[in-house]
Amino acid sequence: MIDADSERTRRTFLRGLGGLGLGLAAGAIGALGWPDVRQVLARETKEASDMFEVTKTDAEWKALLTNEQYLVLRHEQTEPPFKNAFFDNKKPGTYRCAGCDLDLFSSQHKYDSGTGWPSFWQPIDANAVRTKTDYKIIFPRTEVHCRRCGGHLGHVFEDGPKPTGLRYCINSASLKFVSA
Ligand SMILES: [Zn+2]
Repeated sequence: MIDADSERTRRTFLRGLGGLGLGLAAGAIGALGWPDVRQVLARETKEASDMFEVTKTDAEWKALLTNEQYLVLRHEQTEPPFKNAFFDNKKPGTYRCAGCDLDLFSSQHKYDSGTGWPSFWQPIDANAVRTKTDYKIIFPRTEVHCRRCGGHLGHVFEDGPKPTGLRYCINSASLKFVSA
């Protein structure tokens, strides 16, 4: 499990409420004596807006980033495999967030996954990235984003090498490489 189970359950719960229609859900839960859903949602919204240290408007990100960086980091697009800057980069160094320069991955944890995207078996630091569940292609995947600016990086899968068994499949466009 990547996410804490309680966090995943809470998000799934809130997503479910969205599907029901909030007015109906609020009434039903109120009758059962659960916490007022409007308060829960207000708290959730506040957490979401407070979550990242670096925040910019969409227009500011667009001005700051290249088109590829913008589409990947801010709109969760995926670059083509084998046609990106770092999938085959074997130089020692550090991969930073292209949005906010936070150190995210190290060449020490990079390996050739054969997928055509830069792949790492762990982030440079447990606190460098965050994850959330992504349902874009029907079955759930675990999305990976920068802890500091929230920029989308890629996904993490549980078919990586030892010692973690994880494969962080990352878009080159979300990264800046700094040689050691
Ligand atoms: Zn960042």
